[in-house]
Amino acid sequence: MNAQKLSKRLETVAKFVPTGAVVADIGSDHAYLPCYLIHKGIATSAVAGEVVKGPYESALGQVNKEGLTEKITVRLADGLAAVEATDHVDTVTIAGMGGPLIVSILEKHPQSLQGVTRLILQPNIHAKVIREWALTNNWAILDEDILEEDEKIYEILVLQRGAMTLSPSDILFGPKLLLRKAPAFLKKWQREKENWQRVLQSIEGAEPTLEIEEKRAELTALLDLVEGAL
Ligand code: SAM
Repeated sequence: MNAQKLSKRLETVAKFVPTGAVVADIGSDHAYLPCYLIHKGIATSAVAGEVVKGPYESALGQVNKEGLTEKITVRLADGLAAVEATDHVDTVTIAGMGGPLIVSILEKHPQSLQGVTRLILQPNIHAKVIREWALTNNWAILDEDILEEDEKIYEILVLQRGAMTLSPSDILFGPKLLLRKAPAFLKKWQREKENWQRVLQSIEGAEPTLEIEEKRAELTALLDLVEGAL
């Protein structure tokens, strides 16, 4: 992977960036995504934010090497603190982290989201918590995607401002993903189903403590949902 040829995962994130966008890529690491977006003429300018010094320096080096210092500002900052009002950012990408970390980044500097109209989020795990956050923060799901790369399955959520209603199944599986049932979706949830069945079997003979009963109820509810989705 490099700034010209992204991974399938980051290419899918890039696919949802509108042409003419001003992008902030938070947790940019090597800054491949913003460099790619400028090279392809998709973004007009970008901020690459990084909280760790090593990746920040690698982003700076990459942006220099690509000759993009006029178009991409690299900042060492925690999450959305990398975004300044004068940047006029309208699109935020956050990729390659867990859902709870993505949500904590979105919640920590809400003023940085003021001019933002689109969020493109790629959680490695727990996409559910992002849908729950969106639901209570007036963001609606515009689109979703799911893909498999190097034997890992990734979900991508595209949010725009607005209200939505989601059923418990929509929150867990993703409303768009649930409708489409792509092969990667079926593979992910078949795997999860088998894991949950294994755990349920393993506690079958256990002493019925409150904790065991709660776990059993949780797994049974999840299995009901997944059976409805597959
Ligand atoms: N976004 C790139 C991608 O998807 O390939 C890099 C993903 S890498 C696994 C996660 C990056 O997020 C790391 O470089 C890490 O330092 C950075 N990061 C984690 N928490 C952050 C935060 N609060 N603010 C900015 N960057 C953060």
